[in-house]
Amino acid sequence: STQLLWLRNDLRTQDNTALNAALQAGPTIAIVLISPLQWQTHHDAACKVDFWLRNLAELQQRLSTLNVPLVIRSSELWQKAPAIIAKVCQKFNIQAVHVNTEYGFNEAHRDQSVSTTLANQNVLFHSHLDQLLFKPGSILTQNGTYFKVFSQFKKACYKSLYDHLPACLDTPHPQSPLTINNDVIPQHIDGFTAVDAGLQALWPAGETVALQRLAAFNNNAITDYAKQRDFPALHSTSQLSPYLVSGTLSIRQCLHAALAINQGEFESGQSGVITWINELLWREFYHHVLVGYPKVSCSRAFKAQTEAIPWRDAPADLLAWQQGQTGFPIIDAAMRQLLATGWMHNRLRMIVAMFLTKNLLIDWRKGERFFMQHLIDGNLAANNGGWQWSASSGTDAAPYFRIFNPISQSKRFDPNGDFIRHWLPELKHLSAKAIHYPQLENISLASTISYPKPIVDLSTSRARAIDVFKSLPPIL
Ligand code: FAD
Repeated sequence: STQLLWLRNDLRTQDNTALNAALQAGPTIAIVLISPLQWQTHHDAACKVDFWLRNLAELQQRLSTLNVPLVIRSSELWQKAPAIIAKVCQKFNIQAVHVNTEYGFNEAHRDQSVSTTLANQNVLFHSHLDQLLFKPGSILTQNGTYFKVFSQFKKACYKSLYDHLPACLDTPHPQSPLTINNDVIPQHIDGFTAVDAGLQALWPAGETVALQRLAAFNNNAITDYAKQRDFPALHSTSQLSPYLVSGTLSIRQCLHAALAINQGEFESGQSGVITWINELLWREFYHHVLVGYPKVSCSRAFKAQTEAIPWRDAPADLLAWQQGQTGFPIIDAAMRQLLATGWMHNRLRMIVAMFLTKNLLIDWRKGERFFMQHLIDGNLAANNGGWQWSASSGTDAAPYFRIFNPISQSKRFDPNGDFIRHWLPELKHLSAKAIHYPQLENISLASTISYPKPIVDLSTSRARAIDVFKSLPPIL
């Protein structure tokens, strides 16, 4: 009985639940759908789509070693997915389709429609837990509701990890060859701009590279991760997010790699390991929030009363933020890192998001969208979670009155200004003291350097944001 493995953001052959299940059930054919209009609707970045295609090309080679052919179909929007998958099932006489579950609202709706259509054809649809450690709905409060507070969620996760540690799967064995040819993977998709070779080189594709990067991080940087992770100049985080988002790497592989260097402990022992696993659980948390509170998947604030905020319509300020031209060096350096590499350090994501939503009082949805349009690791759950955290509109969000001061953050987390100097060479000559806020040190930049003046006054804009939040109905 032939099986169809429908790959999405799970582009690997090792520790892939749906792949192993399909191969165990019978001869397996793999399929992907190319859905450019859908990706555009989700604001997926060109570099993210390019990375996905490059990973797919690597995956096709790996699948060939397992004798699993990969066929490609086009489905501009997911509405057509049920008909397309059904037709493929008919053509290859498929008995069952296997997928790894995806958790966004549109993704869940797509899979539900496909499953219903296939049921009419007597084709089974198996959706496997793979992207997460725990099935959403299995980690709940005592009242049976989804957690809203991370620390409580984490405690429940720890308990589950003690009870049952999700294991990595065995590497699958090759199946007997089938007489089906591989389709050719496109190198580029119309509607997405070409990606700079320099950016591509930063993010080599494929599960071998992903596992090497995971090993390198666990052999080196994780030791100091707890102490150094907030300093963007130190390159002390794993930079594995694009690999996790495309599924080139699994969450179980990450967890086990970290546990292996800490005697299997996640709650005690090496602080670097404990802290890193804590971050993996934030990823888990935001995915569970997405399922438990689907409105956040539909561009709505978790805290409904924040929908009343009179966000400023300030296109010039938004543009300055987007282009790294705000006059605040740490913000501008961070935004330029995003534009040049498709990635931004976590501390900086928080600083720029807080600046946009509080100091500029611009709707978090505009920042969320811009991030998606540029991030190679763009992911609805984590991106929405991060933005709603910064805007104080989300689950377990930053309290509205605790507004980051970008200059203090800059002094604290880029004390020598090394990160700023790298991305803003025009400020290279400034001292470690002056570089965080040239104007404050009365450094006149005007004649020799083209660096903008600050677009906003920090203290009045901070007070404005606090006033706006204070005037909202309570429950904040
Ligand atoms: P590491 O520090 O090495 O952490 C390991 C992994 O844990 C990451 O790869 C990621 O999968 C997960 N992780 C770490 N921190 C978080 C977090 N706060 N929330 C959720 N998962 C986390 N992450 C994305 O993967 N995609 C996004 O689109 C995204 N958008 C964000 C937007 C904002 C405004 C903020 C504040 C954060 C966002 N994050 C996002 C979370 C975080 O910034 C990135 O996951 C992290 O910077 C990736 O770098 P790394 O792989 O070196 O992380």
